[in-house]
Amino acid sequence: MRNIVLFGPPGAGKGTQSEKLIEKYGLTHLSTGDLFRKHLGEGTELGTLAKKYMDEGHLVPDQVVISMVEDKISNSKHCEGFIFDGFPRTTAQAEALDRMLKNHGMAISGMIALDVPQEILKERIKERGKTSNRADDQNEEKINTRIKVYLDETLPVANYYEEQGKFKKINGVGEIDEIFKEISVTIDSY
Ligand code: ADP
Repeated sequence: MRNIVLFGPPGAGKGTQSEKLIEKYGLTHLSTGDLFRKHLGEGTELGTLAKKYMDEGHLVPDQVVISMVEDKISNSKHCEGFIFDGFPRTTAQAEALDRMLKNHGMAISGMIALDVPQEILKERIKERGKTSNRADDQNEEKINTRIKVYLDETLPVANYYEEQGKFKKINGVGEIDEIFKEISVTIDSY
């Protein structure tokens, strides 16, 4: 069983690579951003709560995210493993994830970080904003807030996995298939 954290700033390509990885490795995709958007679309209480944070580019509070992930893990225990996309985004979330997985007799195999320079990220997000229908993709100030939140609150999560010898950085600029090949080499080594 492989449990992978796909890491990187907004616009790094986590969603794109996740789709390919699910197909190749039969992993269960757990994207907290997608889950929040699903709740939003269904008009649930959780969706309404998350919306005010998401629209501004801020993080949804840890406890809210953690219980949503806990539910998802409990409901899909008998799978080939998970690909965590957009989670954990804080060290508290990373610690909670370790605890949750341990409770189910699982552990993180490794974190794969997609490395993309800031200027390229901004261009990619703006381009995606033309079709993604996401309020947080369409406004320069919100994009800048998300990148700042990533640098301040999320980047320390990389150290958390590095200290455990589970961190691998991959160049996220170039052909999608080339990046995918490089990610696959790392996953095959788990
Ligand atoms: P991106 O990677 O482009 O920022 P996501 O879909 O991963 O997009 O996340 C969109 C928004 O959802 C984030 O800006 C944040 O408000 C919220 N969100 C998603 N995952 C988390 C998380 N693990 N912790 C807190 N907030 C989250």
